[in-house]
Amino acid sequence: MSKSYEYVICGGGTVGCVLASRLSQAGHNVLVVEAGAEDYSDQIMSPVAAPHLHGTDVEYNLTTTKQPGLGDRSVPNYGGKLLSGSSGINYGLWTRGHSVDYDSWAKVVGDERWNYANMLKFFKRTQTHHDPTGSPDKYGFSGPISTTAAARLYPLREQIRQAMSAAGLEYNPDTNGGNPLGFGAFTENWKNARRQPASQAYDLSKATVLTNAVVARVDVDDTKTATGITLTDGTQYTATREVLVTCGALKTPQLLMLSGIGPQEHLARHNIPTIADLPVGENYHDKISATFFWKLRHPENGYALGSPLFNKPEFRHGNPIEWVATVPTPHAELLQAAQQDQLDPEDPYLQEPRGNVEVMVAYAAMAGGGSQFRVPMDGNHISSPVVLLLPTSRGRITLASTDPTADPVLDPHYLDTETDRAAIRAGMRVALRVMETESAQAVVGGETPPPGHAPLTSACSDADLDRRVQIVGSSFFQNGGTAAMGTVVDTQCRVKGVRNLRVCDASVLPVPLAGHYQAPMYAFGEAVAEMLLA
Ligand SMILES: Cc1cc2nc3c(=O)[nH]c(=O)nc-3n(C[C@H](O)[C@H](O)[C@H](O)COP(=O)(O)OP(=O)(O)OC[C@H]3O[C@@H](n4cnc5c(N)ncnc54)[C@H](O)[C@@H]3O)c2cc1C
Repeated sequence: MSKSYEYVICGGGTVGCVLASRLSQAGHNVLVVEAGAEDYSDQIMSPVAAPHLHGTDVEYNLTTTKQPGLGDRSVPNYGGKLLSGSSGINYGLWTRGHSVDYDSWAKVVGDERWNYANMLKFFKRTQTHHDPTGSPDKYGFSGPISTTAAARLYPLREQIRQAMSAAGLEYNPDTNGGNPLGFGAFTENWKNARRQPASQAYDLSKATVLTNAVVARVDVDDTKTATGITLTDGTQYTATREVLVTCGALKTPQLLMLSGIGPQEHLARHNIPTIADLPVGENYHDKISATFFWKLRHPENGYALGSPLFNKPEFRHGNPIEWVATVPTPHAELLQAAQQDQLDPEDPYLQEPRGNVEVMVAYAAMAGGGSQFRVPMDGNHISSPVVLLLPTSRGRITLASTDPTADPVLDPHYLDTETDRAAIRAGMRVALRVMETESAQAVVGGETPPPGHAPLTSACSDADLDRRVQIVGSSFFQNGGTAAMGTVVDTQCRVKGVRNLRVCDASVLPVPLAGHYQAPMYAFGEAVAEMLLA
């Protein structure tokens, strides 16, 4: 095996595979180094297996520090640890977010290449859209990743659709076309009931792929030029063009800091000489969820996962969810909260209706990973997960030790801001309103609250909602921002003050996007590949 490559990619995850494929297919000599294994067994590929991967060795099984916003609980947070990264273990939701999120990203970093109009061609490049009548102005039809939308007909489809409408949500036939507001079909990227891991969807046949190999540090010479990498076993590889760090938002800051790139004062505490004093690990955001459980009036009809009647083979082709709503925080509540947080009135976050929260109805008792309260998955309940999509709270990732295989310290500062608390409350009230409609009431008998608590209604107080979040709030595993564009990297993802080194993963997001991050990361990977090949 050669010890020298034009590009050395640290991390064979979602973006790592896109870059390795595009660069190697264009004739470049590329090495990808991935900490995990290559695994396409049923436990990885089956949609129903995804929730059972937590705690296994194909994931980083991390835990946050105690979060005051979640009642001082530590909650689990995960990342994929295998070739394909988190695309190899995620739940398969496919969401682009809102065009204004990308416009806001471009504005924050002062480079229009990241606005939605410019990102659109990369979204198209990565996708084979499920609806052949979809607009070619919005969607791609020959990309590596195929999508599906509301493809399975579940028994409660019509009732829940009507409930969402009756709750005042507007039907949006095109939630992935740049504006997700309203409610629409739940879109996924399971294909024929199988996962499409990045390492299979993107052709890696011309790249050299090294699995089960952990990068211990990026090697940087005296002229502050990245020259290659060193693995934990001491093996070194040289990069004649560039080192690309794509270890994901949780592990990239760790690798950078271990390489001497990070906050000087923190590095000094670990006796790491500083090469570039940059706010690595700062600006960390993650998205939390809070879930309600609804007792079915007639579980014997087989409406939910766990019931022996809820067993049509096609129900195993993806998540038991058909409709998803994306909603803004009501403007008056948003402005009041923002004032309390002393947000700049010019902040793009306050300018237009944004996709602050997501509300789903799942035909399963889907509890968040860190929830202190859950009900059995026995077909008696459905649930409404509510996800805070655009957190304004920012946390920090730091080193626990200088061991590259140790877990970093995650402190996401969940719900630190009143703006975030107002947003999750608004989403929870929408979820409650949906279930208070006549169509929903025909099928659910009421909310099942945690023991000792009363069921909530949309008329309940802010304090009631806050108390509930403290019990059920959990990570939804959408980590980003920890090597942010504008502060740690420039608008071409180049690490400031170090030559030949880029960060290319969810770490660079300067602001959150109103969706889940795989679709944005595929498009981002395509954008970076085009930039490198220009
Ligand atoms: C449990 C879970 C469920 C999710 N569900 C969804 C969903 O349904 N829809 C959605 O849109 N998004 C979902 N996401 C989020 C989404 O998958 C990720 O945000 C996205 O894939 C991140 O891509 P990335 O390239 O930044 O990092 P990753 O894809 O995580 O890749 C990072 C890679 O780097 C490797 N690595 C790290 N450190 C080292 C090292 N030192 N040496 C070598 N290799 C290293 C890792 O092993 C990993 O393979 C989910 C995430 C998780 C964890």
